[in-house]
Amino acid sequence: MKPINEFLEAIDKRTGENVHDAASLVIFYHVALGVVFSVLIATGILLFFTLQRYQKLVLTNLKSAIRDQQEELRERKRVESELEEKNEQLKYLSRIDGLTGIFNRRHFNNLLKKEYARHLRNKKTLSLLLIDVDYFKKYNDYYGHIMGDECLIKITKLISESILRPADAVARFGGEEFVCILPETSLEGAIKVANKIMLHIREYGIAHYGTEKGYVTVSIGAACSEDLPRGTEHDLLSKADELLYLAKSLGRDRVAYF
Ligand code: GH3
Ligand code: MG
Ligand code: MG
Repeated sequence: MKPINEFLEAIDKRTGENVHDAASLVIFYHVALGVVFSVLIATGILLFFTLQRYQKLVLTNLKSAIRDQQEELRERKRVESELEEKNEQLKYLSRIDGLTGIFNRRHFNNLLKKEYARHLRNKKTLSLLLIDVDYFKKYNDYYGHIMGDECLIKITKLISESILRPADAVARFGGEEFVCILPETSLEGAIKVANKIMLHIREYGIAHYGTEKGYVTVSIGAACSEDLPRGTEHDLLSKADELLYLAKSLGRDRVAYF
């Protein structure tokens, strides 16, 4: 500043006017403007880098939040599908008899209701077979309950093997009693299936030394909706039960029908 001052003072002396103060002011303004401008640029640069760093931080946090949410969504979906699977399993198990693996009485009741309504709609006959193992109490007494259970499992297999149509269903009615629903089957057809079951079990020859015959037999009541024009599913079941009782009273190891 010193040479400028000297230079300005020399001009003052030569011109006899005071340019010195005005020029100092101009220089001061320029210097001040330069300082302000530099500060602004420096602040801008600082702000730019700070923002960039902040942006990176925000982006990283955002990415990790999205990843967490996706993970949570995947986990929720996995739990949901697991629950659905468990639900299906439970639904399936609630229909199944624990010992024999075929439908239980509860599911049989539902099936019978459905099939009875269907036969009324499509005007096709519906048949029912009620099967009871003969002298099964004696079997348990002679061989014990564990062998008794195994015998029931074998009988289930033999009944299932005798029923070939996909629409036919076999269920455990309770204890040593089984039931077959035969949709779109006439009484004649039902008798055929019943005889097949009875003979299959007889010929398989499960030893039963607690009886005169020496092997396990079954009695079957065969009922058909064609004999109950204005009946209900309960009437059909009662009729099969009545006929089973008849088969027992006629000497067992047989099929009874009207
Ligand atoms: P009937 O020829 O008149 O049918 O005589 P039954 O001895 O077969 O009939 P009863 O009703 O007198 O006895 C049925 C027996 O079946 C009694 C019971 O101990 C046995 N039983 C029922 N359910 C089971 C089971 O799940 N396992 C075993 N081992 N036995 C069973
Ligand atoms: Mg019985
Ligand atoms: Mg019995």
